[in-house]
Amino acid sequence: MDSQWSDADAESFVGRYVEAGVSRDLALRVYTSRLLGGDPRLVLHGGGNTSVKTVQTDIVGDEVDVLCVKGSGWDLGDIEPAGLPAVRLDPLLRLEALDRLSDEDMVNVQRGNLLDSTAPNPSVETMLHAFLPHKFIDHTHSTAILSVSDQPDGEAICAEIFGESMGSVPYIMPGFALAKSAASIYRKNPDVGGLILHKHGIFTFGENAQEAYERMIDAVTLAEQRLQKGRKSVFVAADLPHEIAAVEAVAPILRGLSATALGGGAWRRMVVDFRTRPEILNYVNGAEVGRYSQVGVVTPDHNIRIKNTPVLLPAPEAGNLAAFRDGAQAAFEAFAQAYGDYFVRHNPRQAVSKTQLDPVPRVALVPGLGLFGIGDSPKSAAVAADLAENTVDTITDAEAIGTYECVSEADMFDIEYWSLEQAKLGKSSEKPMARQIVAITGAGGAIGQAIAQAFAAEGATIAALDIDAVAAADAIDGIGGAGIACDVTDPASVGTAFAQICERFGGVDVLVSNAGAAWSGRIGEVGMEVLRKSFELNFFAHQTVAQKAVKIMQAQGTGGALLFNASKQAVHPGPDFGPYGLPKAATLSLVRQYAIDYGGDGIRANAVNADRIRSGLLDEDMIAARAAARGVSEADYMAGNLLHQEVRAADVADAFVYLAKAARTTAAVITVDGGNIAAALR
Ligand code: ZN
Repeated sequence: MDSQWSDADAESFVGRYVEAGVSRDLALRVYTSRLLGGDPRLVLHGGGNTSVKTVQTDIVGDEVDVLCVKGSGWDLGDIEPAGLPAVRLDPLLRLEALDRLSDEDMVNVQRGNLLDSTAPNPSVETMLHAFLPHKFIDHTHSTAILSVSDQPDGEAICAEIFGESMGSVPYIMPGFALAKSAASIYRKNPDVGGLILHKHGIFTFGENAQEAYERMIDAVTLAEQRLQKGRKSVFVAADLPHEIAAVEAVAPILRGLSATALGGGAWRRMVVDFRTRPEILNYVNGAEVGRYSQVGVVTPDHNIRIKNTPVLLPAPEAGNLAAFRDGAQAAFEAFAQAYGDYFVRHNPRQAVSKTQLDPVPRVALVPGLGLFGIGDSPKSAAVAADLAENTVDTITDAEAIGTYECVSEADMFDIEYWSLEQAKLGKSSEKPMARQIVAITGAGGAIGQAIAQAFAAEGATIAALDIDAVAAADAIDGIGGAGIACDVTDPASVGTAFAQICERFGGVDVLVSNAGAAWSGRIGEVGMEVLRKSFELNFFAHQTVAQKAVKIMQAQGTGGALLFNASKQAVHPGPDFGPYGLPKAATLSLVRQYAIDYGGDGIRANAVNADRIRSGLLDEDMIAARAAARGVSEADYMAGNLLHQEVRAADVADAFVYLAKAARTTAAVITVDGGNIAAALR
């Protein structure tokens, strides 16, 4: 691993922050924190922490010795000075004289000595940073360090690698006791450049930012070099089915099982994020995957996000998904049972009885395919998948030079149920459509964009499909999700698009089949090719996407909503609009057919009947022409309805959101046209 330090970059950080009133010390602390946080081999998702001891001026102008240490909720990769709150150092140092200190008292002293009372909580490893005397201190959960120390003889291996250059700290859970232990081990050999915290990570320190950072890089490089020596060929492959099922067939099954894994008949949707690459396949395909994948997390604080172990599923054979589903369901049930047993084994040791967390796995390993991160949002599913990938790499290297081993189950429990760790996750209330995946066709148009915005505002995850890739990407600008190019009149393109949705999020809960375009012509004279073209887009495409979505919804087993953009033409045909109205009328029948055929699966089918909206169907030229034909102004034409109000794309979008939530409504059509009695459904 090479040092990324650059004098020029360091000075540019100093220059930039000094203008904002930030000291040179703190600016350099931000700079190397970001260098560490930018490399996933060192730091992932809130892992690791850094500090600098410096002087700040308080409100009355006194200079105060402070420890600026990473605050909870910040990531090293994009940390700012505000993410390194200043704590008065002297009161922290006086605590070392105590024999013990409760977590509550520790947090209280840390918060009580913040220079800024609104700052985030200082890291759970603040005391360790305080008790060591060095100006700059860096801490990571480096993959290579974990691979060499997560071993039965990890201390001996580290002694061989580092000799006297690093201190060796046996595992103790983070907090006051670890801080005291690390400080006393350091004092026995004050020449060390850092400390290996066995089965946890590494601290390095120095008198300046560059020294502490480069000692980290040097130590990790030594560990990496050790991992290249005397490697066994690991992971003999298991016998797998000749042909493995596709990700898009497996992901919805997995997503459904994740939703129902709460047990007791309750369910709550989850989002799943698929990953694969040769190293992951090598790992999940190993004959011994049932051993090394079930040992536990590579560093204790990972378990608050991915629990101690992943659920290991059977290899899914193509054409035999029923067997996969049965095997996977049994694996999920066994996982939940084991998780409950683990809680019962360790909760009685706790001073204060804990409440059991949900028994839903956060990582699933699928031989032949790869791995899935599971979370309550795309973000948390991606975090779980990132940590799982990191685990694969760490354990693969550990097994190449020895046997992977982590801290004891009791130690893992203490971390997973430690209030200070759970506090890292934060508690936020969910919006009504959180955890739901909404696929929208024609998402690049005015109505499609409004639909995407409206569902995103309700907390849904958006998969925006449009024939134009740029328009699809634009549709999720600012709201997140996936923008996917898709020609809805081409079944192959639809298949690819839904496969992408399944890989990214695991499935679909709501389909808004919105893509459409208007063709006109007097019905007795119009060319058959015009009619067929319109039927392709305004009828068959609705059927293609609905069929695809229903298959995924059935595999998930958690219901779903099919929503169609119908048209006034379907119920109140206008002159020369047969080519548009006829397929739309067929689509209205399609809504009812889906409602009948899939109501038993909890899948609802509804439509919105909108009219006279500024969109691709009704562009500015057409509005001008129609207004002129009626001898009214454009504004009067657009508001030519019972309410005398122009109907906006957002009004149509709101109707779709309503129908997605209307759990007891199916085979319904909502009219959004400002009132048009001739088009009223009867
Ligand atoms: Zn740590």
